[in-house]
Amino acid sequence: MTTPRRPGAFVISLDFELHWGMRDHTDVQEAAEADLVRSRDHVRRLADLFAERAVRATWATVGMLFASSRRELEPYLPTVRPRYDRAELDPYVEVLGEDEDADPLHFAGSLVRHLAATPGQEVASHTFSHYYCLEPGQDEEALRADLAAARAIAAPLGLPLNSIVLPRNQWNPRYARAIRESGFSCYRGPQPSWGYRAQSNETTTVARRAARLADTYAGLSAPPTFAWDELVDDTGLCNIAASAFLRPYSPRRQALEGRRRARLIAGLRSAARRGRLFHLWWHPHNFARYPEEGFALLNFLLDESDRLAGSDGLRSMSMGDVSAMALADTPGGHSGP
Ligand SMILES: [Zn+2]
Repeated sequence: MTTPRRPGAFVISLDFELHWGMRDHTDVQEAAEADLVRSRDHVRRLADLFAERAVRATWATVGMLFASSRRELEPYLPTVRPRYDRAELDPYVEVLGEDEDADPLHFAGSLVRHLAATPGQEVASHTFSHYYCLEPGQDEEALRADLAAARAIAAPLGLPLNSIVLPRNQWNPRYARAIRESGFSCYRGPQPSWGYRAQSNETTTVARRAARLADTYAGLSAPPTFAWDELVDDTGLCNIAASAFLRPYSPRRQALEGRRRARLIAGLRSAARRGRLFHLWWHPHNFARYPEEGFALLNFLLDESDRLAGSDGLRSMSMGDVSAMALADTPGGHSGP
């Protein structure tokens, strides 16, 4: 057995979007809005916990949230905009309040500044307008204008935006060049389904089938992890794919909590021991309904991550950290220390 060239890494990314991420979910509006307002406190609490525990996390933030008021936002609104066939997706018709106090669902400049000032936290992009790359009606020109706006509104805060998470994980390979030319070096690719992904050669078809059944009926298989040498795609972008979504706690699924923990721990251990990446993601508002249960699970995972740091050299890395290390290895680049 050889020592991995690169460390195992625990990557955490959060999609910070408030109402911009669920404008089209009209049926759940009222309850969801209360959760979103509460989730603002959890943004601070999560960032502070990460700083305290030396966790380097990526915050993929909707560009419009960088503003603290309508006046501050307006100069950044792009003139070329997506014209989605589904009109309800158009974010530019949203009625906005005056400022962050009056409209805490659409402005979050104070929270973005808090993230930027918190050690180890990477402020990244979730596009400017929660842009949908696979929806009919939009095109590359509108995406480029959106990404330029995201970069422009982050610039006064001195935030370079290196990493991006595309809304609804709508990865459109035709846009890879536009994303790279807009200044991004990495994105979070969609999560392969557990047990359905092509495995290494030694895994037989029978074993794969068994893994699928285990997922469905017993929940024994670990979420996928990713190898360092598979990250950079042929456009030069680094795909730091998701391993698992940290689903919100639900009392109805209480009986499954132990199993869920065990799977996440199995993913972390596999990454640590094999020198691979385990990438966990969620939204701050996923902690809104049951914050104590959410923070308890997160702390449980961070405790395990600390143990694996001692035993196997597992590291906490943001998406930006990962892409810097992966790209240093690509032809034409130079190896890191
Ligand atoms: Zn989103």
